[in-house]
Amino acid sequence: MSTTAEALRSAEAHSAHNYHPLPVVVATAEGAWMTDVEGRRFLDMLAGYSALNFGHGNRRLLDAAKAQLERVTLTSRAFHHDRFGDFCRELAALCGKEMVLPMNTGAEAVETAVKTARKWGYEVKGVPDGQAKIVVAANNFHGRTTTIVSFSTDHEARDHYGPYTPGFEIVPYGDLTALAAAVTANTVAVLLEPIQGEAGVLVPPAGYLQGVRELTRERNVLFMADEIQSGLGRTGKTFACEHEDVVPDVYILGKALGGGVVPVSAVVADRDVLGVFRPGEHGSTFGGNPLACAVALEVIAMLRSGEHQQHAAELGDHLHRELNLLVGGGAVTAVRGRGLWAGVDIDPAHGTGREISEALMERGVLVKDTHGSTIRIAPPLVIDKEDLDWGLDQLREVLAAG
Ligand SMILES: *Cc1c(COP(=O)(O)O)cnc(C)c1O
Repeated sequence: MSTTAEALRSAEAHSAHNYHPLPVVVATAEGAWMTDVEGRRFLDMLAGYSALNFGHGNRRLLDAAKAQLERVTLTSRAFHHDRFGDFCRELAALCGKEMVLPMNTGAEAVETAVKTARKWGYEVKGVPDGQAKIVVAANNFHGRTTTIVSFSTDHEARDHYGPYTPGFEIVPYGDLTALAAAVTANTVAVLLEPIQGEAGVLVPPAGYLQGVRELTRERNVLFMADEIQSGLGRTGKTFACEHEDVVPDVYILGKALGGGVVPVSAVVADRDVLGVFRPGEHGSTFGGNPLACAVALEVIAMLRSGEHQQHAAELGDHLHRELNLLVGGGAVTAVRGRGLWAGVDIDPAHGTGREISEALMERGVLVKDTHGSTIRIAPPLVIDKEDLDWGLDQLREVLAAG
């Protein structure tokens, strides 16, 4: 165990600087709270970018993980194990789909969805081999692999990683006319976040997801929803697509699916889509491992009860009511989001997002800025109203001081 100064010094000297963390060194955590090596407590208003929807040290998830640790943790997909079928059946049922292809990280699930769409395009739709196109949105965030950054519009994420993977068409997010114009006979899929998280919690105009659904159905194109951050309760529903009564062809899931315990991701779709894979054509050593399945099964069981979605919806309404009162008061220029998920734009005259985040840290609240002047608020869904209100008080005081 190290002190704050030692931990910061070692990270500075020996870790690649691909992140710029706040100078807090967490030692333990429970529920919505983290404690640092000096014993100071912090309210976690980021929740591991929504990987921790069910909070730190969730009893049900820890019990499921511990029980599975003692039984068997890894078999590889060379053999069956006794949690795999249950996991696939339950996750498919949660999504209202027939089949699951498990992976580990979100980026791997997005890669899997890209492969699924291309293979479906060639083998089912009849697109000439090598010609498949996937339409994506500007300001997307789908992960960090070389193929995924090939269709990013964020220079930090993309620059100097070429040569880039071809086959992607980028259109403005929320613009149905541009989307319709980009779809051709060779288009196999439209890949979108139903709410763009990293871009600053951008909610598309009402009717957009419905429009995407109708267009993709008419043009025989797969609608692939990246619900890695927006899904599994965050917005007050199991999936953000539900806010527009939309069912995509393909769900891409990750983050909260592993309960903040282990990385678990998956692509979920019907047999006419995921049925394109035959043995040897795709895979992952760790994908669908027994520990991952045991934890994810508990996550799915918690979501099946609907209690977390309901809590997120109710507390989310409260959060947005309170945040909207700040708009126009000087420091806050806009607030967006749904459920327990908000992007708060700060007037640059009041300080950068980073400065606001540092000031909040001094007051015991941990958030993360994005794109310079936006604060993202996404506490664990298990947060109670008193703690949320306390966090909001700290935000109000920081903004008043700035
Ligand atoms: C986090 C995220 C990813 C990537 O997930 P990793 O587990 O970090 O690879 C992909 N899509 C969205 C929408 C995300 O928020």
